[in-house]
Amino acid sequence: MDCIFCKIAAGDIPASKVFENEEVIAFDDINPQTPVHTLVIPKKHLVNINDLNKENSNIMAHIFLAVKEVAAIKGIKEKGYRILINNGEAAHQEVGHLHVHIFGGRESLGPMIKKSK
Ligand code: 5GP
Ligand code: ZN
Repeated sequence: MDCIFCKIAAGDIPASKVFENEEVIAFDDINPQTPVHTLVIPKKHLVNINDLNKENSNIMAHIFLAVKEVAAIKGIKEKGYRILINNGEAAHQEVGHLHVHIFGGRESLGPMIKKSK
């Protein structure tokens, strides 16, 4: 499958890895929108939330536990941070492999994160 995040998970293309366990991997976004901008992905390929079911939904617990680990590693756990999932076309999901964005490292993140091109 020609999926860039599967290739990162497999170690076939490089990424700035922040955290990894059996289920998930977290790495810094290549085009950061905030001082901290890290992505958490399942190692198993799921396109987005639409691919979740009762059998695989425990992956979301692993993802959110990894979010907590990343926040601690990046030093933003106490101050606070924003997590976001772009899910599907209307949300401009660009990479078709489920991922949670973690934004932080600013005094205030404002009401929303705007993408800069
Ligand atoms: P989406 O719009 O799908 O929610 O976000 C995809 C994110 O993946 C974007 O913020 C983009 O900068 C990031 N991204 C795309 N390709 C790569 C890559 O090869 N490496 C890394 N580290 N991030 C990537
Ligand atoms: Zn994938």
